[in-house]
Amino acid sequence: MTETLLVTISGEDRPGVTTRILEALAPSNFPVLDIEQVVIRGQLVLGMLLSTSGRTNTDCDAATQSVYAATRDLGLACTINADTAESSPQHSARLIVTVMGNPLPPAGLSEVAGQIAARGGNIDRIVRVAAYPVTALELHVSGTQIEDLRPGLAAIASATGVDLSVQKPGLARRGSKLVVMDVDSTLIQDEVIELIAAHAGCQDSVAAVTERAMAGELDFAASLEERVALLEGVPVEALARVTEEVRLTPGARTLVRTLHHLGFHVALVSGGFHEVIDPIAADLGVGHVRANRLEVADGRLTGRTTGPVIDRPGKGVALEEFAAELNIPLDRTVAIGDGANDLDMLARAGLGIAFNAKPLVRTQADTAVNVPYLDCVLFLLGIPREEIEAADPGLLSGS
Ligand SMILES: [Mg+2]
Repeated sequence: MTETLLVTISGEDRPGVTTRILEALAPSNFPVLDIEQVVIRGQLVLGMLLSTSGRTNTDCDAATQSVYAATRDLGLACTINADTAESSPQHSARLIVTVMGNPLPPAGLSEVAGQIAARGGNIDRIVRVAAYPVTALELHVSGTQIEDLRPGLAAIASATGVDLSVQKPGLARRGSKLVVMDVDSTLIQDEVIELIAAHAGCQDSVAAVTERAMAGELDFAASLEERVALLEGVPVEALARVTEEVRLTPGARTLVRTLHHLGFHVALVSGGFHEVIDPIAADLGVGHVRANRLEVADGRLTGRTTGPVIDRPGKGVALEEFAAELNIPLDRTVAIGDGANDLDMLARAGLGIAFNAKPLVRTQADTAVNVPYLDCVLFLLGIPREEIEAADPGLLSGS
């Protein structure tokens, strides 16, 4: 006894095609178990799984002939496969693998598909979420576990330069979230301390220490103390000029605006300084900032910080405290950062994204983004380009 019919139709799309096929099937009244349709450049692919349980062979033959006749009239190719096995239940534990690149090389995609198959997974569905400024695809994968899939895909990402993320779908992926961002070399293209150092004439010595600290070669707190000491005597007015010099990362404004539009919370957590970051946060409408503070005496920097030092553990704590304050569970938090001092917050967040990160950070985060546009992070969160444009017309990767 036939239990299911799988109808696969392809060819040139035109208005009314799907309706004609469904009309051809209507007299049989077979329940539709699954249906997927996609049109790429005017070419239609339609797949439909119908339950024929309890029906006679005559019923199945009549439906099959009716669909063949309709598709013949429409000039479409059609295959119908009858299966005597009961329809297998959908795997409930689906994963979403997002693949992103500019361009997206077929070899990278084929390695991703190979890795999914090697882990016992099946790609049930592929959906394009963006064509510009990157090509971003969502692969809906069943039959494998997130823990099994992540390490292999991370290796492909670093080998091929394709950006990849693996997430569980459902409420943890949709719904309100807290997105916590690092500032230096993440939200902005600069390292603030180096911009201040330029006003003290010691940019090179500060930059050398920063580079080693961000690569994880130096303890951040000690390196901060060392670098801030070099800023002694810088007039406090220089900080306002530094704020003006800061260059936002392309896509930063769009990212923040879209997240706010969708009702997400955004926080900045930085090893830099409130004095420079607060005006940037205010301009972006970000109300939550955790950073270091520069001590000032007689209108000049003393070369010391005041208050608690926001270092690697401090950033992790800040993420947890903002989440608690906003009543958002940690699995609905996203952290974005590039440096070694971001590793704690990247690890604690539900999704840790290494953004154009140092190698040490790239290998330890859940996912890495290597395209230079911050708004591409939205694609990893499953927010398609159309929704971004609705929130922020014309601004995608603008600033
Ligand atoms: Mg940074």
